[in-house]
Amino acid sequence: PRLCVVGSGPAGFYTAQHILKHHGAARIDIYEKLPVPFGLVRFGVAPDHPEVKNVINSFTQTARSERCAYYGNVTVGRDVTVAELRQAYHAVVLSYGAEDNRVLGIPGENLSGVYSARAFVGWYNGLPENRDLKPDLSCETALILGHGNVALDVARILLSPLHLLRQTDITEGSLAALACSKVKRVWLVGRRGPLQVAFTIKELREMINLPGTRPVLNPVDFTGLENAVRDAPRPRKRLTELMIKTALEKPGEKAVKVQAGAPREWGLKFQRSPQAVLPTADGRRARGVRLALTRLEVRTGSWGAGMEQDVPQPLGISPKTAGCSTAGWGGRWQALGEAGPTDKSISPSKGSDFHTAAAAERCLYCSGWVKRGPTGVIITTMNDSFDTAQSVLEDLQAGVLDVATSREGFGAVESILHSRGVRPVSFSDWEKIDAAEVARGKAAGKPREKIVDPQEMLRLISH
Ligand code: FAD
Repeated sequence: PRLCVVGSGPAGFYTAQHILKHHGAARIDIYEKLPVPFGLVRFGVAPDHPEVKNVINSFTQTARSERCAYYGNVTVGRDVTVAELRQAYHAVVLSYGAEDNRVLGIPGENLSGVYSARAFVGWYNGLPENRDLKPDLSCETALILGHGNVALDVARILLSPLHLLRQTDITEGSLAALACSKVKRVWLVGRRGPLQVAFTIKELREMINLPGTRPVLNPVDFTGLENAVRDAPRPRKRLTELMIKTALEKPGEKAVKVQAGAPREWGLKFQRSPQAVLPTADGRRARGVRLALTRLEVRTGSWGAGMEQDVPQPLGISPKTAGCSTAGWGGRWQALGEAGPTDKSISPSKGSDFHTAAAAERCLYCSGWVKRGPTGVIITTMNDSFDTAQSVLEDLQAGVLDVATSREGFGAVESILHSRGVRPVSFSDWEKIDAAEVARGKAAGKPREKIVDPQEMLRLISH
């Protein structure tokens, strides 16, 4: 069988890996819109978390398999349609992530000084489309909307000492901007309470121990919570206990000793929902964020319904504040042209419905964030992708996928791409770009210096 995968993030690679491992004859082509592979492992995972990026080693092994080919620089839905892929392959797996930005829908969110987490993270990680973001870091206080790991990533990058960041693969441009940053205080604002934070203990601990910074947690926010979590699942209990301990610790006590008198600080603000980004007098940029208190609506179990009062410029945020980042990750998948997962039978929001018989008949599958939405870590995405791969294998086994008719695979797609003037980037091309990045990084004492301009990548491989 000739199969293809759209997207070369963890979902794409894990799906391919599982199928190749369990089907001795399947051939898989991976299409990726960027010249470079690995999706959010390259462009999302924080530069100071290099160990997370080790998954790239196993993806590389998969890509080097004789039965697998990588075609970067091909945007499915533009350069080749899903319908054309379905003609060329016995099955198509959509694994193209969740890239749409989520909008807050509040006045002022488009003011200068407000950035989506996607753009901000893309900027420091060298995502081509965000390389020119130039975030304004001339304010002292940054506000991050969100209480998840992405929010903590952004806070950590804003507050980390430069000498630590210099040892990572953060881009040269963002390092230069962070070197001039005036930000010394970061508030992470969440709509819900301390028991609902979505970040995990490892990331919280990292933030608490960040050299040169001081956590500022209000003990009042945690009153009575020790009892409330007594019977909670262990991860929630430990996480809450760590927040309580940190809130009660006096500067100079064990965990915060190094941070006593630290020049930078960060804190968590709970039960506040953004109402508006406030403009400066000339109306051109953000000067603050208006937050409203929220409370849990016991009847419906939802947050935000019980708005109590408006809090204009709360939290001691100075008028010079720039709202820095909305740290939720979009939450939407984009339709890929006429034949993307607009079909209800495989709608990602419907989760597992994608492998109904109807979807299989259409030889279309999906895995990863395009299927589940932007939640979960790489392991979650791996398990999900193995499930999808298993469905493909079962459908092959059961004859649901008709492999009696041979399909041309890339042979057919190549002529389509050629006719449209698109030149794909192979995996060995990527390995040349990779080697160039590593060499550039070496000169600066970094693991790599990412090339942020796709044209430069293409020049490097003589495209
Ligand atoms: P993606 O990784 O987004 O991959 C999708 C791929 O499809 C991309 O390469 C994209 O360019 C490509 N694509 C999109 N559209 C097209 C198209 N039209 N044609 C062709 N290709 C296309 N998890 C951890 O375990 N540890 C962490 O530290 C961690 N940090 C994270 C930090 C951030 C900021 C974010 C957002 C996520 C983080 N995660 C982390 C989660 C992890 O990145 C995801 O679970 C995982 O990347 C989702 O995989 P995916 O393949 O579904 O999507």
